[in-house]
Amino acid sequence: MLIETHAHLDYPDFAGDFDEVLRRATEAGVTRIITIGTSIESSRRAVELAEKYPNIYAVIGVHPTYAEEAEEDVITPLRELAKNSRVVAIGETGLDYHRLPSIELENKAKTSAFPHQELFQPVAKALQYSTEGEIEAGIHDGAYKSKQASLFEQQLDLAVELGLNVVIHQRDAWDDTLEIMRPYAGKLRGVFHCFGGTQAQAEEVIALDHLVSFTGIVTFKNGGSVRDVAARIPLWKFMVETDCPYLAPVPFRGKRCEPAHTRLVAESIAAARGITLEEVAEETTSTAGKFFQFNR
Ligand SMILES: [Zn+2]
Repeated sequence: MLIETHAHLDYPDFAGDFDEVLRRATEAGVTRIITIGTSIESSRRAVELAEKYPNIYAVIGVHPTYAEEAEEDVITPLRELAKNSRVVAIGETGLDYHRLPSIELENKAKTSAFPHQELFQPVAKALQYSTEGEIEAGIHDGAYKSKQASLFEQQLDLAVELGLNVVIHQRDAWDDTLEIMRPYAGKLRGVFHCFGGTQAQAEEVIALDHLVSFTGIVTFKNGGSVRDVAARIPLWKFMVETDCPYLAPVPFRGKRCEPAHTRLVAESIAAARGITLEEVAEETTSTAGKFFQFNR
């Protein structure tokens, strides 16, 4: 019995074979799937899925890379959606500086196959004139960061108000993320999803009574350092996830990911720790059972 703690089942990637995806998850021993909202619309779809399928639960929130296009008031609709007892946490929310306007400028010739890149459309127009573009991008960086910070804080406040925990998305923004979360210590717990940091960072998170969760990255050939972290931190301080449709574990790397692959993540961690899959499954399921409010 495994809990897939981070899936994006509302994404169109699953529209064609949704029931098959659920069936394969069940066959792989994944008994619960938490589908994560990334915008108000996506959160609404997540709640609909959770209402329809008994083994799906919803987390609702606005992803930091949606900061620019997000509604002026996201809290009223989120508060309304959270009345549904199938909502088990707030998120994903946090900070993502990976595609700041200025960095986007530097990277404009490069391509990246990372999650959510298609969701973010920065000041592309400014990039056509490099000097003017650089200036504009610098100004936009500040505005973009403060928009993300505000959205993040509003959602943390809502979580406290509702007594829910929070699914945290953090990318290239470690210090600022922890700084924003500091005043909330003791009021809520967060899970740093898709953890890709160092052992020291994992320990920092754990010391603040937060959790981490691991994706298929732990199965990657170049995922050695994350796998080591997963092997060393206490067994009761992490959960497993796929972040599907992204980050399919080996041997499916590069393909569409799905909740059934949570088992491969757990197997890889079990092997790294020298324990059985059952032990990882039992402990991560118990951790998820305490972190998410399945019985509201
Ligand atoms: Zn996600």
